[in-house]
Amino acid sequence: QKVVLPFAEHRIRVDMLSFAAEKVVKRLHQAGFEAYVVGGAVRDLLLGLEPKDFDVATDATPEEVRKIFRRSRIIGRRFPIVHVMVGPETIEVTTYRGGDAHTHNEQGRIMKDASYGNQQQDALRRDFTCNALYYDPVRQVVVDYQNGVADVRARRLVMIGDAAARYQEDPVRILRAARLSGKLGFEVVPNTAAPIADYAHLIRQEPLARLVDEVMKIIFSGHARACLRQLEKLGLNGQVHPLLDVLAPAAAEDAHNIAALSLNSTDARLRADKSVSVGFVLAAVLWPQVAAAWADYQQQGMRAAAALNSAIADVRGQMDRGWGVPQRYSATMREIWVLQTQFEHRRGARPFKLLTQPRFRAAYDFLLLRTELNEVPAELAQWWQQFQAASEEDRQQMSQAAP
Ligand code: ATP
Ligand code: MG
Repeated sequence: QKVVLPFAEHRIRVDMLSFAAEKVVKRLHQAGFEAYVVGGAVRDLLLGLEPKDFDVATDATPEEVRKIFRRSRIIGRRFPIVHVMVGPETIEVTTYRGGDAHTHNEQGRIMKDASYGNQQQDALRRDFTCNALYYDPVRQVVVDYQNGVADVRARRLVMIGDAAARYQEDPVRILRAARLSGKLGFEVVPNTAAPIADYAHLIRQEPLARLVDEVMKIIFSGHARACLRQLEKLGLNGQVHPLLDVLAPAAAEDAHNIAALSLNSTDARLRADKSVSVGFVLAAVLWPQVAAAWADYQQQGMRAAAALNSAIADVRGQMDRGWGVPQRYSATMREIWVLQTQFEHRRGARPFKLLTQPRFRAAYDFLLLRTELNEVPAELAQWWQQFQAASEEDRQQMSQAAP
């Protein structure tokens, strides 16, 4: 049943919203529509976290929304939503969705889901109770149909409705359960956790692009290792996506391998609002495979650089066969790897050239990871650190004196 919480019970202030979110809600109100901030943003604000993005739910149709905002466009066909651009921000505006008009195929998967509904129906089709909260910055209330606020306070992840049916309807909810519980430190309650093992096999039938999207959200959640632990705990081993398989060694609390080290640094950078590179993380988690093949080729008598090229070609070939990772990421990854042999050449013009490579910084950071794993002598990384900091004359001297 519907509960309307006043400010004293939620303590979300209007100034906690982004400029764009507040503006979009107010404009929709002025046009005579209902509009609420919804989903992850309300949940995060209740937890005292800064929302990643703001979604707005409204009773206006996409066409009506489109007419109100000049800088907006309708996207998606099966269920259209509107992207409203305000300054540098994009707000996703969704029309309330109804319950009954979707049809199921023999696996119970939603095939069509394009009927609009009211707010109560909209709440029912969201995934977890913590994600079905609506905040109205004008009246300063939170609307809660599912006991979501209590679950947020108790840090519980609870599926709305019959969990088994909801996973069957959309298996990606399984990955969302792992990601959100890992990222927020929520306990997945038994009813919500129990059916996961039975339906995990459905995940692989999802469109690859959607899976890669979810895997990327896990890697760049700022809590990647906690999410991986949740995946393991919920019984998802090796049936989702090959990228998650190569990340698995990072899950253990005391893991000391390149996947764990690179995710540690990714998590730390994200939490400090610093930029991270997808290519760098891919380079790190796939490095053990490259390093093994590299060693093999060298054993077969190939020279270091040629052997590395062959090893990289092998691993990239494997990735291109059905991993669905966008080309631009795997290109960066390759550049980082290729530069690894270059660090050994410290005499003459070569170190100066290396320094001007666009990927030098990422490749050097990668060298540091390898140093931490004792793959490369610490002396080499120290030399490059000094070389970067040195003046032009000192660099000349360093290069002449180098081994
Ligand atoms: P994040 O912090 O990653 O943004 P989020 O919960 O906001 O988490 P979004 O992908 O931004 O996730 O989705 C916004 C909202 O849409 C969710 O809070 C939830 O209410 C709803 N939602 C998203 N995906 C699903 C799904 N697969 N099934 C049902 N509802 C969903
Ligand atoms: Mg969100």
